[in-house]
This record gives sequence, structure tokens and C-alpha cells, in this order.
Amino acid sequence: MLSFIKKYFDFNKKEVDRLYKFVSAINEWESQLLEKNDDYFKNRTLELKNLLKHKKTTLQEIVIETYALVREASRRTIGLRHHDVQILAGIALHEGKIIEQKTGEGKTLTATTALYLNALTDEGVHLVTVNDYLARRDAGWMGKIFSFLGLSTGAIISGESFIYDADYESGIKGDERLVHLRPITRKEAYATDILYGINSEFGFDYLRDNMAHAPHALVQRGFHFAIVDEADSVLIDEARTPHIISAPYEQDISRYYDYSRIVKKLNPIEDYVIDEKLKTAHLSEKGIEKVEAILGVKNIYEKDFDTLFHIEAALKAETLFHVDKEYIVSNGEVIIVDEFTGRLLEGRRFSEGLHQAIEAKEGVAIKQESKTLATVSLQNYFRMYSKLAGMTGTALTEAEEFSKIYKTDVLSIPTHRSSARVDKPDLIYKNAKGKFAAVVEDIAAAYKKGRPVLVGTTSIDKNELVSKLLKERGIPHELLNAKNHEHEARIIAQAGKKHAITVATNMAGRGVDIVLGGEIEQSTFKSKAEHDKALKAWQVAHDEVVTLGGLYVIGTERHESRRIDNQLRGRSGRQGDPGETMFFVSLDDDVMRIFGGEQISNLMSMLKFPEDQPLSHGMVSRAIESAQSKVEGFNFDIRKHLVEYDDVLNRQRDIVYSLRKKILMYPETDRKEFKSTVLNMIHEQLVGLSTDFFAIPDVDENFKKQFEADIEAMINIKIKNLDSVLQENNQLALEQYLFKQAKTKYDQQSKQLGEDSWNEVVRTLITSTIDQFWTIHLTAIDDLRQGINLRGFAQLDPLTEYKNEAFKMFEKLLSDIKFESVRRVMKVEVSQYENKKDSIASSENKLLESAVFEKASSIDAFSKKNNSPSKSGSKVNSTLPKKTSLGRNDPCWCGSGKKFKKCHYPESN
Ligand code: ADP
Ligand code: MG
Repeated sequence: MLSFIKKYFDFNKKEVDRLYKFVSAINEWESQLLEKNDDYFKNRTLELKNLLKHKKTTLQEIVIETYALVREASRRTIGLRHHDVQILAGIALHEGKIIEQKTGEGKTLTATTALYLNALTDEGVHLVTVNDYLARRDAGWMGKIFSFLGLSTGAIISGESFIYDADYESGIKGDERLVHLRPITRKEAYATDILYGINSEFGFDYLRDNMAHAPHALVQRGFHFAIVDEADSVLIDEARTPHIISAPYEQDISRYYDYSRIVKKLNPIEDYVIDEKLKTAHLSEKGIEKVEAILGVKNIYEKDFDTLFHIEAALKAETLFHVDKEYIVSNGEVIIVDEFTGRLLEGRRFSEGLHQAIEAKEGVAIKQESKTLATVSLQNYFRMYSKLAGMTGTALTEAEEFSKIYKTDVLSIPTHRSSARVDKPDLIYKNAKGKFAAVVEDIAAAYKKGRPVLVGTTSIDKNELVSKLLKERGIPHELLNAKNHEHEARIIAQAGKKHAITVATNMAGRGVDIVLGGEIEQSTFKSKAEHDKALKAWQVAHDEVVTLGGLYVIGTERHESRRIDNQLRGRSGRQGDPGETMFFVSLDDDVMRIFGGEQISNLMSMLKFPEDQPLSHGMVSRAIESAQSKVEGFNFDIRKHLVEYDDVLNRQRDIVYSLRKKILMYPETDRKEFKSTVLNMIHEQLVGLSTDFFAIPDVDENFKKQFEADIEAMINIKIKNLDSVLQENNQLALEQYLFKQAKTKYDQQSKQLGEDSWNEVVRTLITSTIDQFWTIHLTAIDDLRQGINLRGFAQLDPLTEYKNEAFKMFEKLLSDIKFESVRRVMKVEVSQYENKKDSIASSENKLLESAVFEKASSIDAFSKKNNSPSKSGSKVNSTLPKKTSLGRNDPCWCGSGKKFKKCHYPESN
């Protein structure tokens, strides 16, 4: 272990030495820039962009010049000159590393050099933040530098987008950095050179783009280079829960019962066709007419595809699934019987609306579900970038994870000034009661002297407990628990003032600087005299707090991960300030109890020390460290596990999204390719049907009839002379004959409507088909993932099982998508479609608008128990936007006159 650490530090030192050579060169370049006038900088940016565009230079060749340019631009605009270590760290970012640079060292400024350099290729660069406030603050602050250099800066937060515009005044008071952000559209924001944004919005925009129904609705433009700020928090802690866009929970389930009743009235001989082997069931022309009559609609295809889809599911449930064979009913629940082993697959559900249809058939309660429309894990979102870098105060303890999951190295950056912080050894108490009493005592003593204290807690309830105890003692304090970022930023910025007592959870106010003596005002002063006066007053306050020993950080519990403890410690002693930190621990803390094992419990009984007396014992300190590293390993395993599972879905998502993108873009980029793609899909289906037909050696009349019906169901054409073609007994001839008729019809439709409009219709039909099936697939995969552990005892590796099963389901998904797409495209009658197309086109868009954007909250609780990644332990995080554009009782958008909930309300499966 020791030799590993030594090796690491040797390696780190070597890297730092290598990068220092660049720093010297950049320092040399600086002097010639001092004489240049302001215009020079913008012009030079244009020249550099041009050189890159024409491949006359490379990014690597201009590192030194650009870093010098940014440093000088920063000095002239916001008055900060990058320290050498910030320049050095900037190069590491350009090289795609995760940098560990201590809190308060100025990471916001560090990022500017790498952002500028990489933005010069005009592909857009992203700086990812942990919250809305930081995205705005940093865009508004650094935007001034970039604008001086001739680049645009944007910011995206939930629901809003901005661009840095020096001439714009938002009316926001108090913080100069928030004033010059002018609202723009999301698409315009993505078009800026440098875009700051909260991590969840990047993920949601990606998902939303892949649900768009027209190219103009796309907002993102690729994944070129991203720097993730607070990288440990985003890439590790938050990465435990994926981004999810889901439809509302409430849904109209009565229709399942209606459909079940309808199919019971159908005649098995003439109304539908079932295939026992393929387990498919389709209505015949007669059957469709009958259903139309019952529902009172003229053309069921004109209504919406969902209805037919669910009626056919009901039909399947009625004809192909039998109680006590494919499933059983127990305690009002439909439980699947595994077709091979006969085992009950509890918790699993049939997909594609079939489970609900069976529940309706059996007259039991239909389970409401939320429907996942799209999902991506943070890991897989960030892995899409050609180059990914990150920065945080604490990364080293997680170096292995960064390297394994994101293929990025961690580099520890030296501090600008050496640290003067004192980290005291832990004080250990027998139980929580004794511990908290001592904490409050300690705070009271510091408060009496006027020394500012930051108290860190691991959870909101502990945080409130400390607050309650302080109130009882009459000690004034601020209470923060990461709920309102902007408000908290203002409070934490003052946490270094004399007498300030701040009680905060780990994430509260992250990214905000704690300056001793309080924040130096960021607003503009009316005169220099006014500014000097304010500065003088601040200096006095600052010096006083320095004399008091600087910020005192108290940890009330060791966190599961040493990294989080280090984050808390890092709040004190910024940029060479004095400071002190200490952790209060009790033997009944969660970390100790759950992971400390026997060692700790033995200690508890062995050491008969009184409750209010602390203990500093080498054995206990070692036990704490080993407990923490145990938990860290455990949590890493969970995340690795999650990624392994997610990788399967990720590859599938890649394939489906790229197919979808083609269909979406081709009508504008390549009409010929569009047509041949669609015709190929049709051809493929007809080949499939013909192959099936010829697979049977001797066909009777019934079989022929069935074949004819299948073709008609597929391409909506009554084939003439089929008999004479079949007589030839030539499969190829048959395929060609069928395809020719389908193509003729396709061309006719296209001609009648005009190629562009027709393409739009086809595009909408296929993209909605993809979306509909993909959504169903997501739910099914999720069910699979939840149920797969049940197979563990059959000595099968759940992950392998999951992969196999998921692959099978995916193959089926692709063939379903193609089948349905062709069926729908061929079903459309242009004449009916002409006035109808707008409503169908907007169908999925509306679905999207009514979707819930959900960042599932921590799944830890669930994962720990089941050791299986799943989102079922998740809740909708209230700080994230929930969008519902149409109320359930509003009239439906499609113009049917019915209530939304009775018509196109998005429903489960
Ligand atoms: P971090 O993100 O590393 O915790 P910030 O970017 O919030 O740090 O910066 C912390 C403080 O350091 C800010 O108040 C900023 O103005 C100051 N700072 C950053 N770089 C410099 C510099 N080169 N010279 C002087 N002050 C700096
Ligand atoms: Mg920061």
C-alpha cells in the first residue's frame, strides 16, 4: 500500500514537472501581450479560428499563445491574473484529466484557458456545474473574459437559457456577476462558443433531442469537450441515479376493461387471426369493422394507433394467454409463469400493455405505472464527449473509479500558497448524545470569542438536530441544507465573518468561496473612494478573523466516504488562510455501526468510559479509516454494477437513437436516402412473409388465404392475381411482384401529397413508432432488471442472464419497430391524412410536453438492500421541474372534443 502511494506521488510529481515547462513558456509569452491594444485580442481569436479551420495549425501548437491570451484578457477584464498553478491545471484540463485543486484555489478561473482553446474549433465547449446558481454566476463572471476575446458565453439552467451580454441589465442587485445575462432560447444557448450549465439539463436536452419530431427542434450540436466542475459530486455521487423523463403516473385505466369486453364479442373464425407459435394476434378487416362499429368510429387508424395497439393486446390476452398456464392469478395479482421452468416470476410484468390487458381480462386491479419515455445514466451521457475533463477539491481517493469508468487520470495540483490549516485528530464519544452535547459546547466556546464556525452534518435531520441544540443555548446561527442555492450562496459567502455560525449539510453552498471576514462585495462602486473605503473596512474585518485563528470547521460525523470529509475540511484554510478542523465521532454513528464490524462493538463494551468524556485512541481511529474504506469499496461496486447493467441498455439506445436520427434528418439532408431506407423496410417485411410462405412444403387453400390476409394487413393492398404468381412457385418472383405493388402505392401517395409533405408524414409515423416501442422496451428492460436477481438461485449469473434476455428483447424490439412502421406507413390514406396530419404530428410532442423530467433521488437505500441497480427506490426530486402543459380535464389537443384524459393521455405501456 505504501509503495503504491509513493509510486502515485512520484508519478504526480513527474506530470506536474512536465506541465511546468509549458507554464514557463506561457510566462515568457505574456510580456509581448502587455503592449497590445484591446482590439488585438478579438482579432487574434478570429485568426486562430481560421488557421484551425483550414488545418494550418493544431490546438497543441497554440496552447502557449492562447493561454497567455486568456491570462491577459482576464487581467484586463475581471482583474484576476491566473496564478502559475492555475495555468498548469488548465493544461491538464486540456489534456482531458480530472484535476484535484483545493477549494478556494480558483477553479472557475482555471477552466477558462482550456475552454477558450477548445472553443476555437467552433464545435462548442461545455462547463458542467452542480447547480443553477453556479451556472449563472460563472457564465456571468467568466463571460466578461470570453467576450473580450470575441467568444460568446451561454448558460443553461432548468427552464431558462442565457447569453452573456455586457450591454444587458437584468435588474438583479447584489451580485455583479448575475446582471449581464440576457434570456435566449435553448437552441441559441447551445450555439454559443462556451456554455455553462447544470448537469441535469445537459442530460435532459440530450433525451429531449432524441424525442424531437423535426430537425428544427433539435438543440444540441454534438459532444466535443466538457469540463465537469465538482467532478466527484457529478460523476460519482450523482451518477448513482440516471436522468429519466417519464410520463405522469395517473392514467385512465378503465379503457383496458373496455377493450377486454370488446374482444370477447369478436368471432374467432372471421374477426381475427392468431399465430400460436409467434404469439401474435391481429384483427382481420371484418374484425376491424366490428370494433369500429362498437367504438363508434369511422376509421380506427384515423383515431390513433394506441387504440388498435391495445385492442390487439387485449385480443392476445384473450386468445393466447391462459390462466394457470402462462400466468396465475393470486391475491388479485397476475403472476407470470416461466415457460421453461414453470417457476413463478414474481414482480415481473408482461410488456407492451399485455399485463394490463390480462389484468383486465381477469377482472383484477390494473397496476398503475409511470412510463419511462427516455433515460440515460450520467456516466453514459458524459462518455459521449470526445474529450472529458473535470475539476474538484477532492478526487484522489476516487482515482481508480475515474480511470475505470471515465478513462480519465487524476492529477493533483499544488496549491498557490502552502496551507496553514490544522486538522486535529478525531474526538471519539461513546454515543451520539454525548457527542452532540460536546459539539454544542465547542461551538459555544468559539462563538464567545467571535471565531466563525462551519458545522458540517451528513444529513438533514442531524443538521436540524444541531440547530435545535444551538437554539436551546441561544446561539444565533444559519441553517443550510442544499435547497435554495442562490440564497445559500449568499449566506455561505458570509460564513467567514466574525461570530458567524453556519450549520450545513455536505452539498449546501458548494462552490461558494468562504472569505475570512466576509465576502468582498462584487457589486460596482460609484466611485474609487467608495471602493477603497469598502476594501479598507473589509481588511480590518479580515485581519481580526485571521487573529482569531480563521474558520473553524466541525464535522459532526464521519461520512461514508473520506472524500466527503475532505471536502468539508477544505472549506477552511483557503489560499493559505489559517484554519482548523475537527471531527466528532461516536461509536454508534452509522458508519461505525454498520461497517465497523466486531472490532468496534468489542471496543464499545471493553472501554467503559463515561458518556461525556472523549477518547482519542489509535485503535478506534484505525477502525474508522478501515470502516470508511470498506464503505467506499462497497459503493464503488454498486456503481460499477449499475454501469455494467446500463451499458447493455446504452448500446441499444445508441442503435435506436441513430436509426431515429436518420429518419428524422434524411427528409432534409438526403431525400433519396430517406426513400430507399423506407422502401427497404417495406421490402424486408415482404421478403419475410414470402420466406415464411415458402417454408411450408404443401400449402392448402386455407394457408393461402391466411397469406393473402397477412399481406393485406401488412401493406394494405388487396393483391390481384396472387394465385397465378403463386403458381410459378418462385420466391424471388413473388417478392418482386409484391414489392412492386407496394412501391407503386407508396409513390402514388407521395405524388398526391407532394414529396416533402409525404416524407413528413412518413417521418412522423416512423419516429412515433420508434418512440412508442422504445418506451415500452424501457419499461420492459426495467422490469427485467428488477426481476433478474430472482434467477440468482438457479446458479445463473444475473448479469449474463440479463444480457441474454435484453438482447432477445432488443431483437424483438427492432423487428417490431420495422413491422409496425411499415404497417402504419402503408395504412395511411393520403386523402384522410391531409387534414389530420397536424394533430398526429404533434402527438408525440404533446406527450413530451406533459412528461415529467425526473432526476431520481438517491437509490442507495434500495441498492444496499437488494444489491441490484434499479430506480424503484427513487422519488421525484422536488427541486426539478415537473412539466404538465395540459390538465387531465382539459380538452384534448387533437381536437376530438374529448377530455385529454379520455383521449390522448399518455398511458403506461
Ligand atoms: P474554487 O472553485 O477552486 O473553490 P473559486 O473559483 O470559487 O475557487 O475562486 C475562489 C476565489 O479565489 C474567488 O474569490 C476568486 O476571485 C479568487 N481567485 C481565483 N483566482 C485568482 C487569482 N488568480 N488571483 C486572485 N484571486 C483569485
Ligand atoms: Mg468552484
